[in-house]
Amino acid sequence: MGLLTEYDLKQIVLIEKKISLFEESKLDLFEIICDLSGILNALESVSESWKKDFQREVNTLEIIHDSIIDGSISRWNGDYQKDIYNALSKLKKMTVYILEEYLGQSDLSISVSAVEGDADWLICPNCNDAWKSNSMKAMVICPKCDCAFHNPRISHTV
Ligand SMILES: [Zn+2]
Repeated sequence: MGLLTEYDLKQIVLIEKKISLFEESKLDLFEIICDLSGILNALESVSESWKKDFQREVNTLEIIHDSIIDGSISRWNGDYQKDIYNALSKLKKMTVYILEEYLGQSDLSISVSAVEGDADWLICPNCNDAWKSNSMKAMVICPKCDCAFHNPRISHTV
């Protein structure tokens, strides 16, 4: 898989946030299905096979949701709560995978490095937020504004 565009990177981070919101019961099943489908359709630099796998899990959530609405969930084969959980943990794993892959290589379309505060903290040159990071990956993402920067602790050529 190639590098993510800046836009897609933000969408991938957004997927992670949506899944967390659902886990905290701040989104219901219908909302997360709509949100994830919308984000998925907007992705531009992610491989088709990743999208297909992602779509499959979203479809599972959709079938469960429809069955709840029309009452047929009582005839669901197995534990549907567990199936929701499994689909979401697969989606989460896929999201983490794509993020880790992105962070592992230097993104030459980005020219700015995060600022090293001290041994434990990085400072975002965009929003000035400081966050704790011991990452030794090539790229880091500011948790406040979701912008990607080079990791100042890694020697790189820009
Ligand atoms: Zn920031």
